[in-house]
Amino acid sequence: MKIPESMDGCVYFTNRTLPKGKVMAWARRKECPKCHKAQMGKPVEKGKVKIRADIYVCPSCGFTEQKIVHEEGLTLEAVYTCLHCGKQGESSAPYKRKSFQGVQSFVVECQHCAGKIPLTKKLKGIGDPDSDS
Ligand SMILES: [Zn+2]
Ligand SMILES: [Zn+2]
Repeated sequence: MKIPESMDGCVYFTNRTLPKGKVMAWARRKECPKCHKAQMGKPVEKGKVKIRADIYVCPSCGFTEQKIVHEEGLTLEAVYTCLHCGKQGESSAPYKRKSFQGVQSFVVECQHCAGKIPLTKKLKGIGDPDSDS
């Protein structure tokens, strides 16, 4: 699994140290299904990305897709040191949050022990680009 070189190609990127273990996870942008010339992202207005927008837009042809539909087609990829077995691994999961111990989280499963590694939503303003979506 290749770690993205920059956040620009991702709709989500997080790098966390857990009480035991650590995890880096991301979801890559999806190519526009209409023109295949660009990667879709949140709309940009006056140079600022509208993170809260509920659509994704192709910067090349203007094709739009609803956030929910778009995100269902994305994959969350993660490299981690498992908090259960302590091994390093790589896993992918659907880019979809589910409830984990009552908190909305992306959940990655360890390839070695199948232990669950949750990526809980961070509180607003702690530097996670996804914190308010
Ligand atoms: Zn396009
Ligand atoms: Zn494990």
